[in-house]
Amino acid sequence: MRVLSGTRPTGKLHLGNLLGAIDNFRKLQGEDAFFMIADWHALTTEYESHTQIADNVMEVVTDYLASGLDPAQCTIFIQSEVPEHVELAMIFSMITPLAWLERNPTYKDQLKELSGKELHTHGFLGYPVLQAADILLYKAEKVPVGEDQLPHLELAREVARRFHHLYGVEMFPEPAAIMTTTPKVLGTDGRKMSKSYNNCIYLADTAEEVIGKIKGMMTDPARKRRQDKGNPEVCPVYYHHKLFNPGNVETVAHECREALRGCVDCKMEMAAGMNRFLEPIRTRRNEWTNRKEDIRQILDQGCRKAREVAGQTLHEAMKAVGLRK
Ligand code: SF4
Repeated sequence: MRVLSGTRPTGKLHLGNLLGAIDNFRKLQGEDAFFMIADWHALTTEYESHTQIADNVMEVVTDYLASGLDPAQCTIFIQSEVPEHVELAMIFSMITPLAWLERNPTYKDQLKELSGKELHTHGFLGYPVLQAADILLYKAEKVPVGEDQLPHLELAREVARRFHHLYGVEMFPEPAAIMTTTPKVLGTDGRKMSKSYNNCIYLADTAEEVIGKIKGMMTDPARKRRQDKGNPEVCPVYYHHKLFNPGNVETVAHECREALRGCVDCKMEMAAGMNRFLEPIRTRRNEWTNRKEDIRQILDQGCRKAREVAGQTLHEAMKAVGLRK
C-alpha cells in the first residue's frame, strides 16, 4: 500500500503535530510510505517571511527522526527538491476549474484565520492543486490527514477523475484518507494547539520549559480558590492528564470535584507525565541535532528515491496530455 503525507515547515513540531499526524506516520512506515517536508506549501503563506523556511525544513526532519520515523522504513524527502511536484501541479492547474478552488471550505477558513497576511494570491488559491500533484505523483492509495484537509483530498480525487476523463487514461488510484485516532490536542490556553495561537508545547522544549508553560496553563475558570470544587471536564490540564497521566485520571477528576487537590500540584503532576512522555523524544532530538551531515544524507537518499517514482508518473502524465510522444 503506497502512503504519502507531509508537513509544512513553518517551525518546530509541537505535541499537536506529534499526536495528530506524526504518530500515524510512524505506524505506517512499514508500508511503502513517503513523507515529505512540504516547503512549497510553506511558501504559499510564508512568502513574506521566507528567511526561515530552509532552517525550518531541518527542524522538521530532526523532529521526524526524533519521533521515531526510520529512514530505513520510509522515504523522507523535501518537496522542492523533487521538481516533478510543480510540473504535475502545472498540468493539473490547466484542468482544474477555478470554481473548485474558490468553493473550498479550507481556503475560506484559512483566509479568515490568517487575516493578517495577504493571501489573495494565485499560489494560495492553487494550494490544493499542488497537494493533488503531491499525492497523485506517487499514486498514493492512503493519505494520513487531519479533518481540515479532507476537502483537499476530495479535490485530489476530483482532479484524478477529470484527468482520466479528459485524456482517456486510468493512471491514478483514488487516494483514501487515514484519519488520526487522537482527538485534537489542546494548547496551554485551552484552544487547539497551534503555532498561530502561541500556545504550543514543542518537542524541542526542555523539561524546565514544559514545566514553565504548564504552570501558566488555563484551568477551570470557575475555580477561583483552593476550596472551590472544580469541573475537570472544562479544564485543559485535566484533558492532558488523560493523554499523559492516564493511570491516575479518575483520582485527578475525583480530587478536583471535591476540592481535594490544588491546581498547582495538579499541573505539576501532569507536567511530570508529559515530560516522561517527551524525554525519549528529547534525547533522540539532541542526538540528531549533532548529526546534520547524516540528516543531509537521509534527505539526499529520500529525494533520489522520490524522484524515481515521481519521474515515471510525470512522464506518463506528459504523454497523456500530449506534451511527449
Ligand atoms: S485541580 Fe486539576 S483538573 Fe481541577 S481545575 Fe485544577 S488543574 Fe484542572
